Amino acid sequence: MRYSGFRILKEGLTGHKGWRPAWREPEPQAAYDYLIIGGGGHGLATAFYLASVFSKARIAVLEKGWLGGGNIGRNTTIIRSNYMLDGNEPFYEFSMKLWEGLEQELNYNAMVSQRGILNLSHSDAQRDAFRRRGNAMLMNGADAELLSREQVRKMAPFLDFDNARFPINGGLLQRRGGTVRHDAVAWGYARAADKRGVDIIQNCKVTGFRMNGGTITGVETTRGYIAAGKVGCAVAGNSSRLMAMAGMRLPIESHVLQAFVTEALKPVVPGVITFGAGHFYVSQSDKGGLVFGGDLDGYNSYAQRGNLPTVEDVAEGGMALMPIIGRARLLRMWGGIMDMSMDGSPIIDRTPIDGLYFNGGWCYGGFKATPASGYAFAHLLATDTPHTTAGAYRLDRFLTGRMIDEKGMGAQPNLH
Ligand SMILES: Cc1cc2nc3c(=O)[nH]c(=O)nc-3n(C[C@H](O)[C@H](O)[C@H](O)COP(=O)(O)OP(=O)(O)OC[C@H]3O[C@@H](n4cnc5c(N)ncnc54)[C@H](O)[C@@H]3O)c2cc1C
Repeated sequence: MRYSGFRILKEGLTGHKGWRPAWREPEPQAAYDYLIIGGGGHGLATAFYLASVFSKARIAVLEKGWLGGGNIGRNTTIIRSNYMLDGNEPFYEFSMKLWEGLEQELNYNAMVSQRGILNLSHSDAQRDAFRRRGNAMLMNGADAELLSREQVRKMAPFLDFDNARFPINGGLLQRRGGTVRHDAVAWGYARAADKRGVDIIQNCKVTGFRMNGGTITGVETTRGYIAAGKVGCAVAGNSSRLMAMAGMRLPIESHVLQAFVTEALKPVVPGVITFGAGHFYVSQSDKGGLVFGGDLDGYNSYAQRGNLPTVEDVAEGGMALMPIIGRARLLRMWGGIMDMSMDGSPIIDRTPIDGLYFNGGWCYGGFKATPASGYAFAHLLATDTPHTTAGAYRLDRFLTGRMIDEKGMGAQPNLH
């Protein structure tokens, strides 16, 4: 079924009796050529591009819960390609280009909203660093503009310009950045993959791997054994637990990150704004709620919920940046499990086990990467060679020392 304005009109006039489920609920088959573990954004996107670009057949996605129950439905929805390092920027710009055509490609309204992302600077040194980053972005074909204090003030007059502990002196703007409705991304990819024959199997947890002489042959699940030619793992915050079943120890720690939404307000925040003197970022959803977040909770955990001291810390960041936020009532908050890598950059690579491939280490930046991650992982699974934009995301870089340390924080996942 194709979605369109005409279809909505027709269904509206005929009692909405023609809508069909967006994807099937198939029983698992005995064997597949490609098994993707994890029905989050990255797993579903991988399955979609495997089927649509690489014309592969007999593909299944195994999800232990429901689609959208993981980080894909928990993030603060920000997309951007304002990275600096060579290993990162071409990949995230590729992702941005895929976002720009995504709704047409999937025939699904994911509410891609390019209202801009503005990183505020609060010192001369920080402005210089933003200038350098902006130049790196321009050289990689992305857009970037350095704004003066007055230009920022015109764009966001509600920020604290007059009494701030860390006065705003300008900002780096990427106009093509913005937000996308996060769970619609999972649903859109799932529907489009299903249409191309991918079996999406929910409530099917992978509990072990079967191997023969160093080669993967299939996976044990709560719904029985499933044989596979190749297995791709994309389980984000559960990466360490899943790969431990294959005897692998990853350079990844899992941490909690929380998100917050206020009651609906009239339009006030024009795009995404990030505080440069603390960790706080905010946007406004189409329903009117202010959507914001801050630091990790700061301890290792696999629980999808956070603690109150971090709530206080995030609220302090918000108050320091835009005191008007103190008048808004908090409506909802939740936590997700972040797969924090040791240099803050992701991994898309083969593993030492034949037929087993890994995608993870997305830290708290993997939502914006969803399209490119799916495309690059599908490329790797289909061709056994890395996609040109993802060649640096090797698993062995922590052994060889070829880190992609975008933030210059070293091997301290809690600081990335
Ligand atoms: C609060 C918060 C805010 C964030 N904000 C942003 C942001 O603004 N911008 C941005 O770019 N990124 C953001 N992120 C990060 C981003 O959401 C993640 O990096 C990204 O969604 C991870 O990829 P995914 O969608 O595939 O993960 P998930 O949706 O978590 O998918 C992994 C799936 O694997 C399943 N799974 C796990 N173990 C098994 C198993 N054994 N068998 C079968 N299935 C299994 C899980 O149930 C889950 O559905 C944020 C994250 C959080 C939590």
